[in-house]
Amino acid sequence: MTAHLLDGKTLARQIQDELRVQVAEQIENSAITPKLAAVLVGEDPASQVYVRNKQQACDRVGIESQLVHLPADVSQDDLQALVAKLNRDDSVHGILVQLPLPRHLSTTRILDAIHPLKDVDAFHPENVGRLAQGRPRFLPCTPHGVLQVLHRHNISVAGKHVVILGRSDIVGRPLSLLLGAKDSHLGPDACNATVTVCHSQTPDLAHYTRSADILVAAIGRPKFVTRDMVRPGAVVVDVGINRIETGLVGDVDFGPVAEIASHITPVPGGIGPLTVTMLLHNTLHAAKLLQE
Ligand code: NAP
Repeated sequence: MTAHLLDGKTLARQIQDELRVQVAEQIENSAITPKLAAVLVGEDPASQVYVRNKQQACDRVGIESQLVHLPADVSQDDLQALVAKLNRDDSVHGILVQLPLPRHLSTTRILDAIHPLKDVDAFHPENVGRLAQGRPRFLPCTPHGVLQVLHRHNISVAGKHVVILGRSDIVGRPLSLLLGAKDSHLGPDACNATVTVCHSQTPDLAHYTRSADILVAAIGRPKFVTRDMVRPGAVVVDVGINRIETGLVGDVDFGPVAEIASHITPVPGGIGPLTVTMLLHNTLHAAKLLQE
């Protein structure tokens, strides 16, 4: 392997150390402990692991967390009523509804019901609109994790061609908005990229991927990005998390691609830990906003 490993796990610990200090300062200055309410519906094992990880991360930085676990057959009305209750609860600063929800529930209606000032996943249309206008309130967690991993390894995106595979509401689209913005909270080098977004209907995908200075894969297809699709010296960020028989793999064929890339994120231990960390960042931010 010749690529420099972008170690998200170590970076996440470092950012969590910084957050622990900021949370302590917040508590000292305001006597308010930031609190995240996590709503889990049903018994999906992966969702249970994700929620547990988020709660453990809260513990590490001094953020309080509350889990509301509802049965898989909860009604739309009952779930909406729970969200409304959490919206009214002054001790709760961030609300997270773990996705995916069971099929009988409308995800859009639930996410729209979360108060925009408590919307720490940044899925509410008001927060997505603000992001699109270049004045974000909360940064979406996974895209923010991508920004941080690049920024903290001194990889400037300004003027670079970034190719993003995937246009989902959670990763690809918001990431394209952040990287293509005129400014960012991390400075002008963390944005101002020329961004190309590819998706399942893009013909000749390799034509685009090979032109990327920075390639971000977020499609959910194990080892999809092969060595011949990557320009030698490119930075490769693998957002994908796919479970196969041998364990977890990303969307990038790691070994062969690492031989020609300049930098690469591993899976696991890449963007995943940063995503959780950015949720903590948003919860602290929400506590500050609600205090204003
Ligand atoms: P998603 O909602 O299923 O979206 C997948 C996107 O990839 C869609 O835009 C889809 O195109 C596109 N796509 C699918 N197959 C493709 C192909 N063969 N060629 C080109 N584009 C293709 O998935 P997601 O929620 O964005 O998640 C993507 C991956 O990231 C998953 O592995 C997920 O587990 C992982 N993830 C990781 C984190 C983390 O913290 N690291 C967070 C979120 C997600 P269409 O729009 O045309 O359908």
